Amino acid sequence: MMESMPYTQSLLAGCRAVGYHAKAAPPTVTMPRLKAMVSGAIGGFLDVALNFNTQAFLDDNILDQLHTIGYKLVMLGDETWIKLFPTLFYRQDGVSSFYVKDTVEVDFNVSRHLESELAAKDWDALILHYLGLDHVGHIGGRQSNLMTPKLKEMDDVIRRIHAAVTSIQDNSHRTLLVVVSDHGMTEVGNHGGSSYEETDSLALFIGHSVESSHCSPYDQKEALQV
Ligand SMILES: [Zn+2]
Ligand SMILES: [Zn+2]
Repeated sequence: MMESMPYTQSLLAGCRAVGYHAKAAPPTVTMPRLKAMVSGAIGGFLDVALNFNTQAFLDDNILDQLHTIGYKLVMLGDETWIKLFPTLFYRQDGVSSFYVKDTVEVDFNVSRHLESELAAKDWDALILHYLGLDHVGHIGGRQSNLMTPKLKEMDDVIRRIHAAVTSIQDNSHRTLLVVVSDHGMTEVGNHGGSSYEETDSLALFIGHSVESSHCSPYDQKEALQV
């Protein structure tokens, strides 16, 4: 997989990023996974049944905490975030996960905002939720022909964001780029359960605060993602 992401690989190899196999607690379904990641608490199985009827999230969570201290939050991508936090975002553009066959437009509709958002000075935290990789997995499984180009596309997004962050002189040391997946995917293109493939997620931290000259980039590090 990492050979499809040469820029990200170079950050890891150069000790400019730290990556983990982040174990996602089941159910490995988007809505309960997002709730778990922002709150640090594992939801109930009722969340699976309610996944398509998402309601505003009221438990304590990091987004509301950031909002409380005055952060302006921008959200682009999977509209599940907007259903969970309908009044939180300073700016938002949601995309629907309903059209699983679409692997192109669904991500273009996020990336088309990148240039202006990276140039904007009015936000404190930017959340991008790209759905195309999930759709590629659902259509053709982990070995899909569409997987390599989609990973390259995501690698390029990471490169663009990292370049923007490092070009801001006075701010680059205080900015953290976090790349996570909310769940994994089975060989045949499903998720929801508790198999290794479904719970094996990514957590990647890129930024000055994680840089080190003494890292071992080829160690397989594991962490619990909640
Ligand atoms: Zn998901
Ligand atoms: Zn999915």
